[in-house]
This record gives sequence, C-alpha cells and structure tokens, in this order.
Amino acid sequence: MWPGDASCAACFTFDLDAEEVWIGEDPKNADRLGVLSQGTYGPKVAVPAILDLLARQDVRATFFVPGRVAERHPSSVRDVVSAGHELAHHGYTHRGVTTLEPAEEEDEMRRGLEVLRSFSADISGYRSPSWELTPQTLSLVAKHGLTYTSNLMDDIRPYRHEGGIVELPISWVLDDAPHFWFDGASWTRKIATNEEVWSIWKAEFDGIRAMGGAFVLTMHPQIIGRPGRLPLLEKTISYVRSHPDVWVTTAHDVAGVV
Ligand code: ZN
Repeated sequence: MWPGDASCAACFTFDLDAEEVWIGEDPKNADRLGVLSQGTYGPKVAVPAILDLLARQDVRATFFVPGRVAERHPSSVRDVVSAGHELAHHGYTHRGVTTLEPAEEEDEMRRGLEVLRSFSADISGYRSPSWELTPQTLSLVAKHGLTYTSNLMDDIRPYRHEGGIVELPISWVLDDAPHFWFDGASWTRKIATNEEVWSIWKAEFDGIRAMGGAFVLTMHPQIIGRPGRLPLLEKTISYVRSHPDVWVTTAHDVAGVV
C-alpha cells in the first residue's frame, strides 16, 4: 500500500502537552508551580533540542498540540512550523473527551482549531487528549474539515472509518509515556532504561516492517526530550532511516495513502 518500492511507513509524532496535561487531569494543578514545571520543560528545553535532532536527521515529524499550549508557548509552535513539521490538533485544553458534554467536546474542537490555524493553514489531523473517542468525535472531525485521526489500536496500517475519516493507528508499546512516565501517584514505579525501551521499539519496528505496516511512534517532548533520552530518539530515527525501503514522513502523508 506504500508509494514506490516502500515496504513500510514510519512517522515520528510528538504530543506537545506542556502544562496542559496536568491541568486537564486536575484544574487545581494550574496553581501548582512544581507540577507545571514538568510540562514547561517541553517547550522550554526539549522542543529546541528535538528540532535540532530532526534537522540533523532530515526528518519531517508531526506535532499534536493543544490550542492552549499554542497560546501559552507561541514561539515554540512557530519554531515547529517554520522548521517544516506538520502541526495537528490535540484538543484546546487537554481534558479527555469522554469527560465532556457533547457541546463542550465541539467547543474544544472549534477553539483548538482556531488557535492552530493561526499558526498553520494546513491542519488536517486530530489526536484526542488520552487517545479516546466519543460516538460523535469522528463526525466532529469531518464537520471541522479534518481528514484523519490517530487514536485507535486496532490495526498496524491506516484505514478508513465509515464516513471517510482515515485512522492512523497507534499503540501503547510505541509511546514513550508508559515506559518513562513518573509522578507522585506511582511513587514506587521504576522508570525504564533506554536499553529496555530501545529493545521494545526495535522489535516492534522490525515486526511492522516485516508485515508492511506503519510504525507510528508517539512521544512527548517533556519525556523523550530529557538529556539522557535524546540519544535514544536519535538512535531510533537512525535505525529506521538505515532501511531504504522505509518511507519516513508525516502522519498527514501516511494517512494520505488510504
Ligand atoms: Zn496529550
């Protein structure tokens, strides 16, 4: 299903949640500077480092950004867009859509898009905060002029939903958060090492390539952008790019082949 002689597609996606992931979990976190600082690290330190790394590797990536993150960190989002990366929708706030009333969910869709379209005219993708959909999400995505979503785990290749919206499937195993996330609620949980995550990601890439699927890595700048983990990101990109039969591109382009 891939262009030319490609046997597999790969895209590197970053959910730039910044402070909103914690505020979405609990509005009281808006006043907790220590909690928020974990998210601020993303636009402040991680994004510039990740943009340098992507430029060095000559890779165009996709950044899913909540509207309120773009309002709070406009220069970070401008840097992403001017470096040629795809900007995509990740809610307005970072509240899970299943916790919202239907009208609130549409408001999130509309307000997020309004903000993101002031940075880029080409917004075509939607990833919900927390990867969950409601029965109306796909029709909202279509109504607001988007063409693909990247939220479900039921395939390794993009496919079309009834109604025409394309799905670009993801997986927990290809997300940095389950391996590296740490907070006070999981105090005794061990943080994975790069070596553990590398062996998981490499095995998954090799398997997806053998099966002709799309390798969609979901990362968060505040997690993968730690100084000790940037080399893992670079190693992963280098490994993927060392295979000439792998089409490395944006989520928009991968979703576009369906
Ligand atoms: Zn997110």
